[in-house]
Amino acid sequence: MLTHTLSQKAAYYLELEDSYGAHNYHPIPVVLERGEGVFMWDVDGKRYYDFLSGYSALNQGHCHPRIINKLIEQSQKLTLTSRAFFNNVLGEYAKYITGLFGYDKVLPMNTGVEAVETAIKLARRWGYVVKGIEDNKAKIIVCAQNFHGRTSTVVSFSTDPSAYTRFGPLMPGFDHIPYNNLAELEKAFQDKNVCAFLFEPIQGEAGVVVPDDGYISGIRNLCTEYNVLMLADEIQTGLARTGKMLAIDHENVHADILILGKALSGGTLPVSAVLANDDIMLNIQPGQHGSTYGGNALACAVALESLKVLEDERLAGNAAVMGELFRESLNNLNSPFIKTVRGKGLLNAIVVNHVNPEAAWDLCIGLKENGLLAKPTHGDKIRFAPPLIITKEQVLECVDIIGRSLRVLEA
Ligand code: PLP
Repeated sequence: MLTHTLSQKAAYYLELEDSYGAHNYHPIPVVLERGEGVFMWDVDGKRYYDFLSGYSALNQGHCHPRIINKLIEQSQKLTLTSRAFFNNVLGEYAKYITGLFGYDKVLPMNTGVEAVETAIKLARRWGYVVKGIEDNKAKIIVCAQNFHGRTSTVVSFSTDPSAYTRFGPLMPGFDHIPYNNLAELEKAFQDKNVCAFLFEPIQGEAGVVVPDDGYISGIRNLCTEYNVLMLADEIQTGLARTGKMLAIDHENVHADILILGKALSGGTLPVSAVLANDDIMLNIQPGQHGSTYGGNALACAVALESLKVLEDERLAGNAAVMGELFRESLNNLNSPFIKTVRGKGLLNAIVVNHVNPEAAWDLCIGLKENGLLAKPTHGDKIRFAPPLIITKEQVLECVDIIGRSLRVLEA
């Protein structure tokens, strides 16, 4: 493994986390203390381009002034009432987000995986109440190599052994099919107990796996034909990341249940949302689902502003243009160490071509030394997902940094 430089100050914080924090992550050895726009600074004042964006939670950039101002303003007025009472922000936010995405209702939650759990409960409830599936027989179809979060239900349908091994007994009721395969989807839909298909429009954690054109609209057609709910997990792909407000917008498709998170708060708070029409959403009655923090006034104010920033700054359009430039410039490096460049908008990845299984990690260390932060996903892949406010000059400078850093693999 490549050696790296670490100041005494940085080593102190790194060791603190290591000593007192659980070891459920394996971070790049850099200790950050400030973020602004596309940049982060470490405790020694060194500046980096952020090419992870908090796993796409920072689409609007670090500490966006409008979002931070809203956060401060609302936090000085009212933060949380619980849903035992009404507040004067949730309704306004609900009206805005449902109007923006074209649904009757929103159910607000906090983390992404809670929104996935909510979608699963809604789909099963719809399966029993509306579709008439016999009690406890509902099935949800999911894809191999999926990533939808880390709760015990959600890891139950992961195909990654490190996610589910020795966390059982696992939750039943999920069947797998290969991703990007409509024939297998149709075969799975022959089972009358299927209530939903849950999928990522681009598989993010699997290494930015982009399906064929026509896959998303094919899903829509099959779901309609077989009376199965289409559950689009846009937690990572949504909110302008792929060059459209939603990744499914590339095929002009409307999901039955839309799942959002991450950039819904511009990287400030855990805020997620599930959107659906009344025929699905109103099958859940008071007391049957909820969350103390879900729909809190602070989160709603911040989410409303975060959505407006995406629109006002036309970040989807910028992501589309900068993404094209980024992939083209990366391909022009003609590096023998890059097997593949893939992605859509500013959700991109490279597959590293090297005999050393640690090469992607080493490259990320090299990138860090040269002022760009990224993280390997699934061994040989590195995701490149900067904030969507990035400019042309910055994209070109980052490709230059990547080009220079690839030399660490020459040794
Ligand atoms: N779904 C997708 C597609 C994701 O990428 C993620 C997180 O990376 C999640 C769900 C889980 O979100 P969270 O980590 O906020 O629970």
